[in-house]
Amino acid sequence: MRRSSKGTLVPGAGVSAFVLFLVACATTAAIPQPPSGTSGPQAEDRPTLVVFLIVDQLRGDMLARYSHLFTGGFKRILEEGLNYSNALHAHAQTETSPGHATISTGVFPNRAGVPSNAWRERGEADFHPVYNVVDPGESLVGVPDLPGSSPKVLRRTGLADWVKEADRDARVVSVSAKDRAAVLMAGKAKGEVYWFESRAGRFVTSTFYRSDNPWWLRDYNERGLKEFEKDSVWTSIVPPEAATWSAPDTASFEGNGVHTYFPHRFRAEVTDPDPGDFFFWFEGTPLLDRATLDVALRAMEEEDLGKKAGRTDFLSISFSQTDRIGHGFGPLSREQMDNLLRLDLVLGDLFTALDREVGRGKYIVGFTSDHGVMDNPERIPGGGLRLTEAHRAELGEVLGAAARQAGMRSDLSTADAMLEALEPLDFVGPAYTQDFLGGSVGSDSLAALFQHSYTPGRYGGLLSTYGVEMWWEENVLAWGMPVGTTHGSPYRYDRWVPMALLGPGIEPGVVEEAVRPMDLAPTLAALAGIPFPDDLDGRPLLSRND
Ligand SMILES: [Zn+2]
Repeated sequence: MRRSSKGTLVPGAGVSAFVLFLVACATTAAIPQPPSGTSGPQAEDRPTLVVFLIVDQLRGDMLARYSHLFTGGFKRILEEGLNYSNALHAHAQTETSPGHATISTGVFPNRAGVPSNAWRERGEADFHPVYNVVDPGESLVGVPDLPGSSPKVLRRTGLADWVKEADRDARVVSVSAKDRAAVLMAGKAKGEVYWFESRAGRFVTSTFYRSDNPWWLRDYNERGLKEFEKDSVWTSIVPPEAATWSAPDTASFEGNGVHTYFPHRFRAEVTDPDPGDFFFWFEGTPLLDRATLDVALRAMEEEDLGKKAGRTDFLSISFSQTDRIGHGFGPLSREQMDNLLRLDLVLGDLFTALDREVGRGKYIVGFTSDHGVMDNPERIPGGGLRLTEAHRAELGEVLGAAARQAGMRSDLSTADAMLEALEPLDFVGPAYTQDFLGGSVGSDSLAALFQHSYTPGRYGGLLSTYGVEMWWEENVLAWGMPVGTTHGSPYRYDRWVPMALLGPGIEPGVVEEAVRPMDLAPTLAALAGIPFPDDLDGRPLLSRND
C-alpha cells in the first residue's frame, strides 16, 4: 500500500541558462573499469591528484543566476569545465551526510549506510540515537572532552580508499567546515582529515586519524584564525548595480528576524558575548570558507600533495558556508549572493594554488553539491507554507488515533493504519510503508527515491520507527522554522545540483543528459586509471580517450 505525491517533478527553468555557455558535444560512453595492470593511462600520464570540490547546498540554478558576476573559480568551472546541467541526486532524504556519502562512495545512501544526518539505530533491545560520524569511542585531538568522529557507520569504500588501494603511498587529504563532510569524503581511509569545531574555536581532527595535531595546524589555529577575530564584520561585496539580482536585503523571515541586512556585525548581533562566542557567529559567515581553504592549502603543502610523478593523491574540500547562509537567509537572499561572490574568489585562489603547486594538466576535478534547497516560502510565487504547532498537533492526533486503531485490530498494521490516516492531510506529501519500499517499487520513480534512502535498522525519518517513510508536500517546511529555509525533500529543488569535470583532455561544454553526483567517483577513478568496485550505482561518464 502506498501513497504518491501530488507534487510533480518537472525540469526547472534554470537549465536553459546553462545552454548560453559554450556547448560542446561530449560523448558519454560508459567504459568498463581498467583491468588491473593492463589498460588505463600509462603511469607517467596519470594525474597526480584527483580533487573532489563540494559546495554544500548549491542548487542547480545558483551558478547561472550570478554567472555574469563571477571572476574566479566559478567562472573557471563554467568556462573550462564539462558542466552537467541536469545532475540530480537520486535519493529522497536530501541532507548533508547522505549527499556526501553517495558522492564519495558511488552508491545510493542506503547502500553506503547513511540515510540521513542523524538516525535512531535498532539495537538489541531498543533504538539509540546516532549522529552519523560522531564516534564516542574516539575523541577530538587536543579537545578530549568532545567526542571524536570516524567513518565507522560507512558501509562502503569511497574514491579516497580506491586511491589508497591503487597505491598505498598515496596521500589523502579531506577538509571541511563540517565533520561529516570531511570524514565521509575521506571514505574509510586514515588520511589527513580536518574540520572546524566551533565549540573549540579551531580546526580539529579525531583520534581515529592521528594521536597528535600537526605543528602547522596548531600554528594556524593560534595565529591564522586570530586574524578573523580582528575583523568581526561581514560586509557585502555585491556591486550596488547588481544588487537587484538577489531578493531585497531586509526581510523579516531571514536570520534572527532582526539582523537581516548588511553589514553583519558580531558585536551588534551577539550582545554581551562570552569568550568563544565569536566562533559561533563566525560559523554563520562566508569567512569560514576562506579559513577552510587556508587549512586545505597548508595540508596540501605538508603532504606534498600531487607532487610525485606516477602517484595519484586525493584531495577533497567541502565548503560548508553556502549551506549555513542558505539556511539562515535563503538561497535568493543578498547574503547568499554575497557569499557566492566571495566563494568564487576562494575557489579562484584554490585553482591558482593547484596550478602553481601541482601544475595545470596534472590534476582532475569533480565539482558538485550534496543537495539543493527550497526557497523561503515567502519568496515562492504563489506562496509556500511554514508548518506551525497547530499542524504538528493535528498530525499527532491523527497518528495517535491510527496507532490505537491498529492496536485493536489484528488485520491492520500500525504502518498501514498511519499511511491511511495521512491521506487526508493536505500538507503531507508522499508516504510509503517500509514493507513496500523493501520490495520492487516498479515504475514509481518517487518511491525509488525513498527506496534509495531507506536503510533497514537505521531510522532517519519522522515516522521511520513506525514503519513509514514520508515527506511533506512540495514547498512546505516543517514546524520549528519561523525564519530561513531548509532541504531534505525528494523534490527537484533539493535534488538538482551543479556538476562539472575539469582536467586535461576534458573538453569544456554543457551536457544535458541526466546524470547523478554519484557518477563522479567512478568517473574520476576511470580518468585516473584507478580500479573501482564493479557493483557501484554510479557509472563512469568519461574515459581518458573520450
Ligand atoms: Zn543544510
